[in-house]
Amino acid sequence: MEKINLSRIKGIIFDLDGVIYDVGPSIKKAVEDCIEKYNIKIDRESILQEIAHLLEDIQNYPLPRIILNSYELLKNTSFLDGLSYFKKMRIVVFLFNQFNGYKEDATVFDGIGDILIKLSKKVKLAILTNNKSTYAEDILKKFNLYKYFNTIIGFNDVKENKPNPEGILKILDGWHLKNENIVFIGDMTSDIIAGKAARVYTIAVATGLAKKESLIENEPDFLINHPKELKQLFNL
Ligand SMILES: [Mg+2]
Repeated sequence: MEKINLSRIKGIIFDLDGVIYDVGPSIKKAVEDCIEKYNIKIDRESILQEIAHLLEDIQNYPLPRIILNSYELLKNTSFLDGLSYFKKMRIVVFLFNQFNGYKEDATVFDGIGDILIKLSKKVKLAILTNNKSTYAEDILKKFNLYKYFNTIIGFNDVKENKPNPEGILKILDGWHLKNENIVFIGDMTSDIIAGKAARVYTIAVATGLAKKESLIENEPDFLINHPKELKQLFNL
């Protein structure tokens, strides 16, 4: 595997879910429950990314706003095409409840703690998530990783979420660093698109929510299958 020369890198920006925090199994189990309960015919692989984005949207807002925006929210559920509004609503609420239950057991990826400790001694580290920044803070604190990040940016800190590069550019600005010295690591196609638009190095981690082919189509600079491979990639 080609290695990244850390002497040129001064800052690394991490997406949280799917890169540090392993929510994949919770999403997959919730989807399985949905398929079984509502007898939906879908290609699991192709809808996981869509569902991950949907759950992210729902998690971010208080219930009244979710209900008010439900029409908009349900527009992005191609896996439920053809069903009535109420049926869609019922399925999405069930999906969200199942996900919340399974998420209690979610944990950080194997080996990622050690990698973050080592990297934090050499470069600046930040989190950029489409979730709320407090969500990221809570999870990092829970796993004793909070102290390794000097910047945490959530959807509440930017006007436009990823794939817009605004969050990455905001972090660069705060660090007073140039894009050629930055790496962005994400698991979704929207992460790679954002990183490319910000002209930073991109590492795609194919942990299973986005299809590997669609990550490759977006031409990340590096592609790995598990966050633990960052250790080799950065020669730690
Ligand atoms: Mg992610």
